[in-house]
Amino acid sequence: MFVVSFIPAFKDNYIWLLTEGKRAFVVDPGDAAPVQARLEADGLALEGILLTHHHADHQGGVAELAARWPVRVYAPGNESITGCTHPLSGGECIEVLGQPVRVMAVPGHTRGHLAYCADGALFCGDTLFGAGCGRLFEGTPAQMSASLASIAALPDTTRIYCAHEYTEMNLRFAMAVEPENTALQTRVASVAGLRAAGLPSVPSTLAEEKATNPFLRCQEPAVVAAALRQGATAREPVAVFAAIRGWRNNF
Ligand code: ZN
Ligand code: FE
Repeated sequence: MFVVSFIPAFKDNYIWLLTEGKRAFVVDPGDAAPVQARLEADGLALEGILLTHHHADHQGGVAELAARWPVRVYAPGNESITGCTHPLSGGECIEVLGQPVRVMAVPGHTRGHLAYCADGALFCGDTLFGAGCGRLFEGTPAQMSASLASIAALPDTTRIYCAHEYTEMNLRFAMAVEPENTALQTRVASVAGLRAAGLPSVPSTLAEEKATNPFLRCQEPAVVAAALRQGATAREPVAVFAAIRGWRNNF
């Protein structure tokens, strides 16, 4: 299994660096400069790029990196991506540094959004965040609910490598939804400790997200009740998800 580490970019992006010896892949290189600096510092050879979606803070560094390295660029085939060499639609199995990686279609944030799942690690871009989920820029609540359900079906020990450090902000919202959730209260304290020490809150595990992330808890009575107070039109999970997501947009 490759080793995963992160390269910070912009204000709160994580570019995930996968290495096997001196061979490297990166996930969502929104900026080429910090990636190039890390490759040089560690003497790494970049072999490929995995993109989850087309937003500039995820694909912005691809052209510059592809000009310097003979990379394979895996990306959603139905999104506008500069330099994509391997268009994907979900359901494929690709090989990354000798490791099989399963490609999942997780539309909602964007219409072609992909997640990459490898031996206990999920690179999910802007679909699932620590204690939150991505905004629905191009997809519907039904699509995002289905995407989150497919992630929730992975093993509980799966490490969730999302693309942004949004956990603290998301936890404030999660506490508004479920103030009585003790797992959530515990996570608020542990994430505050990590962030105060300058450490990332990512990756979390899927088990932690299932226990604390309101967007994975749309069948929990407390979340359903909160959604109804916010004007949810029904108790079924997609309606609950839509109401909670709408509330989060204005929180
Ligand atoms: Zn995005
Ligand atoms: Fe993003």
